[in-house]
Amino acid sequence: MYTTGEKPGKGKYKCLKCGKIVTLENDSDSLPICPVCKHDKWEKL
Ligand SMILES: [Zn+2]
Repeated sequence: MYTTGEKPGKGKYKCLKCGKIVTLENDSDSLPICPVCKHDKWEKL
């Protein structure tokens, strides 16, 4: 599990609350706040 603000590397991450999927394009990108439900916990797909 990852938290908003972490930089876990490029790839797809799913919001643990609503299932929204976001893509980090670069290893230097940080995880956002979920744009749908404002949750801050993610899992890697
Ligand atoms: Zn969400």
